[in-house]
Amino acid sequence: MRVVVKIGTSSLTTAAGDINRESVAKLAAEVAVLVARGHQVVVVTSAAIAVGLGPLGFGPATRPRDPDVLRAASAIGQIGLMATYQAALAANGLVAGQVLLAPTDFWYRNRYLKSRGTIQALLARSAVPVINENDAVADDEIRFGDNDRLAALVAHLVDADLLVLLTDTAGLFTADPRVDTSASLIEEIIEFDQRLEDMAGGPGSSAARGGMASKLAAAKIATWSGVETVIASSDRADVVADAVMGVPGVGTVFRARSERLNARKLWIAFALPSSGRVVVDTGAREALERRQSSLLSAGVRKIEGAFAADDAVEVVDETGDVFAKGLVQWSSEDLERHQGRRTSEIPPELVHEVIHRDNLVILPA
Ligand code: GLU
Repeated sequence: MRVVVKIGTSSLTTAAGDINRESVAKLAAEVAVLVARGHQVVVVTSAAIAVGLGPLGFGPATRPRDPDVLRAASAIGQIGLMATYQAALAANGLVAGQVLLAPTDFWYRNRYLKSRGTIQALLARSAVPVINENDAVADDEIRFGDNDRLAALVAHLVDADLLVLLTDTAGLFTADPRVDTSASLIEEIIEFDQRLEDMAGGPGSSAARGGMASKLAAAKIATWSGVETVIASSDRADVVADAVMGVPGVGTVFRARSERLNARKLWIAFALPSSGRVVVDTGAREALERRQSSLLSAGVRKIEGAFAADDAVEVVDETGDVFAKGLVQWSSEDLERHQGRRTSEIPPELVHEVIHRDNLVILPA
């Protein structure tokens, strides 16, 4: 099996804000067990920013807001973090390879293919790719922000069988276990729904960006890509091996959807940022959802934002419900001018479809 294991900042740092070396050693030993069994493992790590703050003079409980300072902290923290992984994996006879990714590496096909090639070449030689966001040069407007989403996109990139999100709780609970003693672990999730999102609540600790809501969003991306996802505790003995073997109670398991979204649609739905919104009427929503039609100008009621042809946009119904995303073939200007018109009434230089069905993704409810 090909497995992506993501470990969060709270699991990788001590209360004093240093790298938790025991935690990295535990993970490295677990990775080694899997590799010895013939599996391929990719690690997605966080904590570069958190462990770089100390050397810059910040205490463990204070996270500065200045993005330049956070980028600077990551530049410092990433070195020690990778040195720790390198040593811990070497102690288990394994070689580590650092890969730093930015969202744009998922937008542009040539970069996407290059990143995939690098990771595959490492895996083919039994080296362990250790991936983080390229925080030192991250653009605040477009950054992944949390490594959960990065891990889900990586799972798709390498065509993984399993994504394991390791955190400081045993999985997803029916209520917040820190405040409600009757909360119980949800062992299996087949479908996403609103109740589930409500249960996830807000972020966990101050050092980490993720939290349960972002883990849920990552699980959604991964399971849509056909990758089973487990949220489990980084402290649990043999957690990764148990997740691979499907041991009951290992954490919360999200079953992958059987109809796998193809790479292009997944890219449109989850990797590309949207430049605006197209509001459509009920008839158009029905045609898109039930008959998998293309979006035509006749069904368009309103445009929000400015976009060019080939940009990604959200498709919204008149109640404001975002139900699809796609690549537009018309600019917002053209769409503004011809919205609501039938195909026979639009100038011949415009293609018929505002969004072609091949470039349109109906989002999970
Ligand atoms: N990439 C960030 C770091 O290494 C972590 C983001 C997160 O906590 O998910 O510090």
